[in-house]
Amino acid sequence: MRRRTFLAGVAGLGAGALVAPPALASTAYARPQSRPNGPWIQPEQTVQKAALTANVDLGPKLESIAARSKGRMAVEIAGRSATGWPIHLVRFGEPTAGKLPVLIQTQIHGGEPLGTEVVLRLMQTLATSSHPAVREILDRLTVWFIPRLNMDGADFRDDTGFLVQRRQNTQAWTPQEWGLAPDTEAPWYLPRSLLQPGRVSGYDINRDFHPDLTFRLGPGDEALLPGASALPGFFVTPEARTSAAVFQRLRPDVFIDHHHRGSNVQSETDNQLTTLQVIGLVTEGTPEFPLDPAVRDLSFRLNVLVWDALRTRGESPYGGITRYPDVELPGTALGSYALNGAGIMLYETRSAAQKSMGMLIQQSLIGMGVTLEALASGEIDAVDGSRYLDIPPAGPSIGNPRF
Ligand SMILES: [Zn+2]
Repeated sequence: MRRRTFLAGVAGLGAGALVAPPALASTAYARPQSRPNGPWIQPEQTVQKAALTANVDLGPKLESIAARSKGRMAVEIAGRSATGWPIHLVRFGEPTAGKLPVLIQTQIHGGEPLGTEVVLRLMQTLATSSHPAVREILDRLTVWFIPRLNMDGADFRDDTGFLVQRRQNTQAWTPQEWGLAPDTEAPWYLPRSLLQPGRVSGYDINRDFHPDLTFRLGPGDEALLPGASALPGFFVTPEARTSAAVFQRLRPDVFIDHHHRGSNVQSETDNQLTTLQVIGLVTEGTPEFPLDPAVRDLSFRLNVLVWDALRTRGESPYGGITRYPDVELPGTALGSYALNGAGIMLYETRSAAQKSMGMLIQQSLIGMGVTLEALASGEIDAVDGSRYLDIPPAGPSIGNPRF
């Protein structure tokens, strides 16, 4: 039954893919990615960060792909980060009756950059390929991308100006903005360690969502703060509000979110055997926003589909796929969107050691490509969602959930 995926023929994948990025306008690559390197930078860091797409290059890269897409792909600025970076939205098609809407979002955590590199390659294929599977996807699906939600975290620098990236955005707690008493505690997902004098604080955007996508704090809401991980977030970040506005425009049936375990792109993984963790259930819902069993089933089928597709590959280094630990996180994008009718899938790829970046990118690219194909062809309907629990559970060494 398995067909050869359209991504099998895409050039430039595999080991070294980041050394030979897709053929984009040379000007997009000519700019220095960060300040001139100083002697404090280790060589590996220099090479690795230079291989990633800098904030200033993201828009030009997207425009370059769109320019060669013969109208398939549109780019817009859907919002602004807390510090003013543009948040890009890429659209393949518009919400139309009869076309299944899909939203793919990456890098909500600024220190988890590979998803952006994955979707740049996926967008290039969708924009330019004449493969029948791509044409079927474009005919039957509306696919939108938020290729880097956390621009602040992706560009976060240390005191010397060196690019280090981090999980959070860059935004202080401003209770007065919401009509709250000045001494109101900050949301719990603004790490207290970031509240030190002289340091710029910031939120974990992936705890700032609420299943009521129009929720806003207001006068008298002091008692809701600081909240907790098992409760919805507060939409205090412009990034989460931008994502939710996109969601409300598209009303996707499928939402895919891409992360890494760990937030340091330099670190080696703690578990060499696991290349990917997946999850299709991050909340059981709230009384006001119950989880639709059909949505849960679709989520399970999406995860099983990718698990099967990766582990059955002959050349596969992708056998080490496990299920993410059980969580109850309605304040994540995945959680809030699942409670708004989207089947969900989380990619939690291994930390991006340089030698494995190409493999990790290809792993997610295959997964997303297979997913779009199966949604377009209807093959997703033949996947047995009950096998979700057959995906091996995470091993004991994974540590605290951090997605
Ligand atoms: Zn993450």
